[in-house]
Parts: sequence; structure tokens; C-alpha cells
Amino acid sequence: MTDQPSLWIRNYVDGAFVAPDADHAFDAVDPATGRAYARVHEADADLVDRAVTSARRALADGWATRPVADRVAVLRRAADLIEERFEDFVAAELADTGKPVTQARSLDVARAPVNFRAFADMVAADGQESFLTELADGGRAVNYAIRKPIGVVAIIVPWNLPLLLLTWKVAPALACGNSVVVKPSEDTPATASLLAEVLEQAGLPRGVYNVVHGFGADSAGAYLTEHPHIDAVTFTGSSATGTHVMKTVAPRVRPVSLELGGKNAAIVFDDVDVEEAVAGLSKSIFTNTGQVCLCTERVYIQRTIFDEIVAGLVETAAKLRLGEPTDPATTTGPLISDKHRRKVLSYFELAREEGARVLCGGGVADPGGDLAGGSWIEPTLWAGLTNDARVMREEIFGPVAGLVPFDTEEEAIALANDTEYGLASVVWTNDLRRGHRVAAAMNVGLSWVNTWYLRDLRAPFGGVGLSGIGREGGQSSLHFYTEPTNVCISL
Ligand code: NAD
Repeated sequence: MTDQPSLWIRNYVDGAFVAPDADHAFDAVDPATGRAYARVHEADADLVDRAVTSARRALADGWATRPVADRVAVLRRAADLIEERFEDFVAAELADTGKPVTQARSLDVARAPVNFRAFADMVAADGQESFLTELADGGRAVNYAIRKPIGVVAIIVPWNLPLLLLTWKVAPALACGNSVVVKPSEDTPATASLLAEVLEQAGLPRGVYNVVHGFGADSAGAYLTEHPHIDAVTFTGSSATGTHVMKTVAPRVRPVSLELGGKNAAIVFDDVDVEEAVAGLSKSIFTNTGQVCLCTERVYIQRTIFDEIVAGLVETAAKLRLGEPTDPATTTGPLISDKHRRKVLSYFELAREEGARVLCGGGVADPGGDLAGGSWIEPTLWAGLTNDARVMREEIFGPVAGLVPFDTEEEAIALANDTEYGLASVVWTNDLRRGHRVAAAMNVGLSWVNTWYLRDLRAPFGGVGLSGIGREGGQSSLHFYTEPTNVCISL
């Protein structure tokens, strides 16, 4: 085949890139143009097994027992090297996702070294629990918990923030002394392989970081989660796949961390600074073309300022600039794939059937030229829907939100919490007490007031309900990626 790209994205196993097999490969597609830009070697069950075996050997070879100072030094070198190769990572992320270069530079790639340094710092500063135990007969004992690496961790990540979400898990897993086998999304394979180059150069021993490429069912994702010798699975992706992963791992009773989807709400009270709230809402609805698990898809607005906020949001949506990912003026990229665009468009259609008033957008977009074949879509806002509509209950994962008026605080809280998901929420208000009160009443893992996506990596991150199980971040990560052995000594 002459028109296949010559660039290969390769698996990385036992400290070396694996020679690609042209008979087991798929295209890496640039969603901005719709064109294949590389071939990806799909790992078969045998290669996944080799990756898990090498990860286990690496633990026995000493990574798990290396002094913490040595381990975190490798992580810090990796952070420096990512910064040295910053533009390589940006280019890889752009090729896979078509996201705007300004976002890739300021968010996606910028967070990778931050992830490595933050977890290096946390592990270096971590202590251990200990208790002096006093018995009724006057005896005493001391209890202390030694935290040990959990072992071989399977890391499965989605396509929306590929490098950011990957390093969010790889950094704490490695800092805690585990080895990992990572399975990036089939839609965004590039940066996981690039990270292998960096980690090797940083001095990570062979077998500690492995990458297997492929899909879910009957492919690398399933081979990895079904493998009998993985010790834990950390998964970020859709609720449906998360459920499946949990069932797969359940018979072997392995720990699972699930960071899943959302149907996130924002509440806007009429005491806000309208301009600030509109800017914040626009960011939380349209960042990354709405493809962030934390993005707002439902906005409840106090009736007295409903029209004003709606007008502001429509005006801001009109200013979003879809275009060449490499153009610093571009604000908004394509959806990740034509398949995902068909899904989002089906929700656009459903919204009309469910009685939505389309305030802006509602169809495909075509920035023209080279981008005509990409998965472009219009930023879209709806009014006239209630929480009964399926489009107000199911995660769409696109640049879209339904805007709904409310009258009282109680009503707003009830509307926002009326969902099976529970990932994130935002409350916009200038009333201090109300901000605290409503934020605390949200049934979510992450409750923001007057901001969105402001993250402190030491804070717990995760969701409730269909949005996941467990927390990562800070101590939660250190707990997930280690197993305690409690030692009790009679004094
Ligand atoms: P997805 O569930 O389709 O895929 C996620 C990953 O799982 C991919 O690597 C995929 O190949 C793999 N996979 C699929 N089927 C599998 C199987 N049977 N066994 C093992 N692995 C399998 O999700 P997606 O479409 O890639 O990502 C979008 C979803 O991710 C959205 O629902 C979004 O909300 C969610 N997300 C959540 C968070 C969070 O932190 N809570 C962050 C980002 C994205």
C-alpha cells in the first residue's frame, strides 16, 4: 500500500521499542484534517504478556526497593527532559488531537512535568502512620504501617487530555515504587511512546514503564485487564467501559481506581459579576471542544439574570475561533474523531426532538481548506429543556450545554444534583456564605466556586455515582499506589 504513512508509533516493552508488525497495525488519524499521519503497532496478547512479565521482573530487579531519593531523582530528571523536548510533545499532541497549540502548550504538555515534580515532592515528604497503643492492663505497643508498592499497575487512559492524564497516573505509580504497563487510547497513541524515550533517558530501569497500543475489547485493553499478573488497574474513561473493567478485574480482587464520565452542572446566582461568570462558563463549556470530563453540560441560571447570561454566552460562543491547530489565534479544535462527531450530532438531533431551542450552533462546522475533512463541529447552546430530556441526563462530551432558569437556591441545588453522575460542579455567586453552602451541597467529587479547573495536585480528585470509584491526587494517590503492612510491637 503506497499511501500509508511511513511514521510508526511503536510499543515499548522491557526497555526497548518493539519492531512494528505491518499485519497488526492501525492508523493514527489527525482529526483536524481526517488524514492518517502514522501507523500504530497493535499489541497482541503475547506482547501484552511480555510487557506484564517485564514489569514484574523490574520490581524484582530492585525498582520497588530503591531508596525514595533515587526514585524521585529519576522523576525530576524526566520532568526536566519533558521541558527540553516540550515542542516534540506539543507536536505529537496536536497530531493526535488537533487541539489548539496554545492549549497544548499551556495545559496538556505544561502539566506533564508538573505531575512528575508534584508527586516526586509528595513521595519524598511522605511519612508513615504510627500509633502508641495503651492497653487496659498497663501494657503498651507501637503500631506502624509500612507502605509498600502495590506491584504491576495497569494504566488505561482516554484520548481527551492524553499526556496530562497519563502522567497524572504514571508519576505517582513510579514514585511509589511500582512498575507500569500503560494502554493509551487508540485515538491518541503518540505521547505515551514519546514519554518512553524520556523516561529511558532519565534513567528509569528497563521494564518499569511499558506501553502497549491497541483498542479495548479483543485487543490490548482487554488483554491487559484480563492478565492474571497485574496487581491493580487505574482507569480513566467512560462509565460504560469503567464498569466493564471493574467486572473483569473483580474475580481476582484487585484494587481498581475509576475516573469516569460526568454530566456536570453550573449554578449561576443573580448576585454575580455577569461578565466574569460568562467568561468562566464559556471556558467550562467549550474548553477542549467540550471534551474534558469536568466540562459543564448543564447550566442553571437564576431567572432574573437568565436572558443576560444567555446573551453573553451566545456572544462568547460566536467569538470562538475554529482553525489550524498550529495557529495561536485558534481557540477551538475538532472533536477527536468522525465516530465521536457522529455521536455528538446524534445528540444535537435528539435535542431538537426533545424540544430544545437552539440558541447557537447545532451542526457541523467547516473551517475549509486543509481542514475540510476534519471532525469539526459548531459550539452549541440550548434553552427550553428540562432535566427529563435525555440530552440533559447523558454525557455528550462535546462543546454543548443546556441553559435552564431557576428561582430559588433549593431548586438550583435539587436540579444540579438530579443526575446519576457526580464528578464536578461550579457555583457562581458573590455571596460568601451561599458559595460555601451550595458548594457543600453538591453531590460531586469536585465542587468549584467562582472558578473552574483550578487544580491543586495535593487535593483529592474523583467522582461519585457513575463518575467513578476512589480518589487520586495527593495522599489519595499515595494510598492507591501502595499497600500498607501494619507492624505491631509489644513494648
Ligand atoms: P473509553 O471508555 O471509550 O476508553 C478509555 C480507554 O479504555 C481507552 O484507552 C480504550 O481503548 C480503553 N478500553 C475500551 N474498552 C476497553 C475494554 N473492554 N477493556 C479495557 N480497556 C478498554 O473512553 P474515551 O472515549 O476514550 O474517553 C472519554 C470518556 O472519558 C468520557 O466519558 C470522559 O468523561 C471520561 N474521562 C473521565 C475523566 C475523569 O478524570 N473522571 C477524565 C477524562 C475523561
